[in-house]
Amino acid sequence: MQCLKCSGLCSKWGSINGKQRYRCRKCGVTQCLAYYYNACKPNVDQQIVGLIKESCGIRSISRLLHISPVTVIKRILRIAETIKKPSIAIGRIYEADELKTYVKRKDNEQWVIYAIDRHSKKVVDFRVGRRTKKNIEVLINTLLISAASRIYTDGLTTYKSLIPQQLHTVKAYNINRKERTNLSLRTHLKRLSRKTICYSKCAAVLTACLKIYFWF
Ligand SMILES: [Zn+2]
Repeated sequence: MQCLKCSGLCSKWGSINGKQRYRCRKCGVTQCLAYYYNACKPNVDQQIVGLIKESCGIRSISRLLHISPVTVIKRILRIAETIKKPSIAIGRIYEADELKTYVKRKDNEQWVIYAIDRHSKKVVDFRVGRRTKKNIEVLINTLLISAASRIYTDGLTTYKSLIPQQLHTVKAYNINRKERTNLSLRTHLKRLSRKTICYSKCAAVLTACLKIYFWF
């Protein structure tokens, strides 16, 4: 058998669950010819990322890849842990906005508070939580530390107290791009789409999915 990792030659190396196991002579990785347990197959993580970006929920990913939903969730959390927040360029123009969703129950309102770089159109930072001053402040502070040259926001009064007046513009101008980001988010992430029965059961998984969607 050829190694799945480096295509080197493998030799027999004991057995697992009654199946022949092999070990690569070159890189030393042990592997099986056919995996009994689908989550062990190579590229599963990539497939999960691809499906999240294609608006698949946990259950559809589980059905498509023949992996249990619990494993899918574990993998999502594990993948998200490895993703680092990209470094923010200095002195850019940012747009901050909030997107409403809920976790577990309809009355448990949660917001995705995020900021995009107007030039690169990339999400530079986000938070999941209630739309409190504290949560918004963390995001705005990140922007201020990166020497924002201007910050566009909606009319929410909290922003006025957090952003120095000379940097702040309440949007009206170029409103479309941000609303467009909202729209893409709702279309691309199953858990954020409206008028479906899909929703997040857990804030940690929601955060993980957003991280994968924005930065992977
Ligand atoms: Zn190998």
